Amino acid sequence: MNQYLFTPGPVALSPEVSLAQAAPMIGHRGKAFSELFTRIEDKLALLLKSEGRTVIFPSAGTGALECLAANFIGPGVDVLSISCGVFGDRFREIAALYGANITAVDVPLGEGVTPALAAEAVRANPRCAVLLLTQNETSTAVLNPIREIIAALPEENRPLALVDGVSSVGAMPCYPQAWGIDGLATASQKGLLTPPGLGLVWISERGWKAAAERKCPNYYFDLIRQKKTLCKNAPENPYTPPVSLYFALETALDAILSHGDPENWFALRARASRAFAAGLEAMGYELLVKEKEFRSPGLTAFLLPGGDTCAVSKALKAMGIDPAGGQAELKGKIIRMAHYGDFNWPEISLALGSLYAAMGDSRGRAGNFIAEAFGVWMEG
Ligand code: PMP
Repeated sequence: MNQYLFTPGPVALSPEVSLAQAAPMIGHRGKAFSELFTRIEDKLALLLKSEGRTVIFPSAGTGALECLAANFIGPGVDVLSISCGVFGDRFREIAALYGANITAVDVPLGEGVTPALAAEAVRANPRCAVLLLTQNETSTAVLNPIREIIAALPEENRPLALVDGVSSVGAMPCYPQAWGIDGLATASQKGLLTPPGLGLVWISERGWKAAAERKCPNYYFDLIRQKKTLCKNAPENPYTPPVSLYFALETALDAILSHGDPENWFALRARASRAFAAGLEAMGYELLVKEKEFRSPGLTAFLLPGGDTCAVSKALKAMGIDPAGGQAELKGKIIRMAHYGDFNWPEISLALGSLYAAMGDSRGRAGNFIAEAFGVWMEG
């Protein structure tokens, strides 16, 4: 039986990306690797619409978050952390471990961070040097409006904006330079459509200055050390990189950029997400995120009101469909299904059809979900 991976990372790979990893190995201190590295950097710059190089190292997304903390946060640094779920909490926990004085602001699960809330929190904490945000909160499928949030912050003493983009980059607009992000962390296995194993960090000019001034005791994630080899004429990594993953990443970036302006690919993701949501709601599922503007184009979180959400999940797995469940407080209460990759009408109808089959006794209440979803899909 075919297995369909709908977890929000790792995501299903295209055959091209899978095969790219099988290319013959090359040394990481030679011309071929430098050229590969340079091409990837140029493609990431197109995706992020930002100048400057992206630091890439073997790590999970959590490593990329820790890299930001290790370079910008130290004992006694005042940090404002605005969280709307598990991953915002994790970023906060890492910052606390590095000795930060944390001011925590929590948004209820399923809700997003508004620019007004963030601006108010920064005004109320004028000493905060660093602001921690999550662009796409994967535990609740909330998309936070990072551009608007940063634009709303008071100009004077604006804190460094460190953003968890682990589940956003590659699937939705994230333009750190234009938006005023100072440190962006992401990973290979979600919107970048690559196997897990690469952590990526983009830093603003202001961020590089701050990193140079800070003397954090840290070796592997030392951004200044990384920058020295990254900015050589023939760029390389200070330590041995997972070369096969670089082959895969370049192939995945080519697929995303083959649509032209990255906005075109992002619009496809958003379209699929809207059509999937319309089908779910017509069937009787309830979306965790009520306000449409906060719904993630990368994944959807939902439950079956008056039904057994866990049983739906189990039934899906028995059909060869692999969704994710809830985390922490939402464990056992929601289903999360991702649409980062080439999730188009065939995949939407497969997912919706399977969800209908999995509804059990609640099926009788379902409306014409395929017509609803198709209508929204056709709106483009
Ligand atoms: N932040 C976000 C928003 C995530 O979705 C995840 C992974 N689900 C992480 C951080 C952690 O990434 P990893 O599991 O690769 O460490």
